[in-house]
Amino acid sequence: MNVYDSHRMALMLENMGYVETLDQHEADLVLFNTCHIREKAAEKLFSDLGRANLIKEERAAEGKKTIIGVTGCVVQAEDEQIAKRAPYVDFALGPLTYHRLPEMLLKIKRKHAETLIDTDFPPEAKFDFLPENRAEGGCSYLAVQEGCDNFCTYCVVPYTRGAEYSRPVEEVLAEARRLVATGTLEINILGQNVNSYHGEDAHGKERNLAYLLRRLAEIEGIKRLRYTTSYPADVDDDLIACHRDLEQLMPYLHLPVQSGSDKILKAMNRRHTSGQYLDVVARLKEANPKLEMSSDFIVGFPGETDKDFEQTLDLVRKIKYIQAFSFKYSRRAGTPAAVMENQVEEKVKKERLDILQNLLFSYQEQFNQASVGKVMPVLFEQYGRHKGQLIGRTPYMQNLHAKADESLLNHIVDVRVESATTNSLSGKVIL
Ligand code: SAH
Ligand code: SF4
Repeated sequence: MNVYDSHRMALMLENMGYVETLDQHEADLVLFNTCHIREKAAEKLFSDLGRANLIKEERAAEGKKTIIGVTGCVVQAEDEQIAKRAPYVDFALGPLTYHRLPEMLLKIKRKHAETLIDTDFPPEAKFDFLPENRAEGGCSYLAVQEGCDNFCTYCVVPYTRGAEYSRPVEEVLAEARRLVATGTLEINILGQNVNSYHGEDAHGKERNLAYLLRRLAEIEGIKRLRYTTSYPADVDDDLIACHRDLEQLMPYLHLPVQSGSDKILKAMNRRHTSGQYLDVVARLKEANPKLEMSSDFIVGFPGETDKDFEQTLDLVRKIKYIQAFSFKYSRRAGTPAAVMENQVEEKVKKERLDILQNLLFSYQEQFNQASVGKVMPVLFEQYGRHKGQLIGRTPYMQNLHAKADESLLNHIVDVRVESATTNSLSGKVIL
């Protein structure tokens, strides 16, 4: 979601005459788009800001002005700390107000002494105020839903991104058509809780994610569709049927489970048990037998015992995820779990994370190894590390590099997989 938001902000700045630079010494404006989901992500901002300020001072000595701005969820949660710890920050905008970036920059250009902050939850939808989206390559994100009403007890999202909001169907389709017209072949539709999508159609009727996917699949030129991230309890029959019917819908689904223990899932306020989760996965796989799964896990949630953790490992052994993201529970101020009494020791969290990741990596590697010898369609998205090489993704989101001519960038090409590691594949283009 932050990659998508950053892209939309970059397009706004481009309209104002800004040009992107990768050298901070050259930058008149430095913008940090931030994440608040875990403590580590938030803390990184303050060290990055310190470094940016040194450059700001160097430039000031040369008579150049530098504007430093912060956007994203850290602003929503820690606006006062930013102004206090980094008073040299010129402005801060929350994730729902970044459409006000041009207005903010105009204000900054007039004189100001303190950090200007805008953390509104505005009644207007920011999407109505953004310049048209444009593809950056063959693969694009498209946000269709934002915010979350689930209130998992560990999570900041409902507080930082606010209540659930779904963009109208026609607006989404129009953005998708623009992305296709500017070169996109694959669209990954985004939402914090994307399968609770309930946008209005042209007649004011609420439509679900399955409807939206079917309409997107009708757009000529869209070769691949994905959606991220889904909530297990909101996977309905309609959505499952899409995995059977839509050939563009890739056979890979990120469906976070967080834990395999029902006791912990309940304490997390997740609206599903591990049994219900397994049942949803079974039904999805029945709809498309080629479907493979990915997930998010949290270890060391308050009250998690060795037995609970074992149940998480058991679930992983059953599903054999081909990729996954796993995290140590991070205590976030303002969330219910932060003040639960039975917090798990850091050392135990670390041990559990190591064990879980080893198990997850073993399945990931097994899947990658099993790909060797197969021919897979790969969408080449970027240049490889070596000259004459391109990197792309298989339908299963595996990274694959191959010797390939530049002209194949942003194209889908058949590749025979020749070797595999835990994290990537390498192969030979078949023309
Ligand atoms: N809406 C999605 C995920 C949003 S956040 C869902 O419900 O699955 C992305 C991931 O960050 C979560 O799936 C969770 O695994 C992790 N996460 C969120 N809060 C966390 C916390 N306090 N500590 C550790 N991991 C956390
Ligand atoms: Fe956070 Fe996802 Fe739970 Fe919403 S459903 S509160 S975004 S983890």
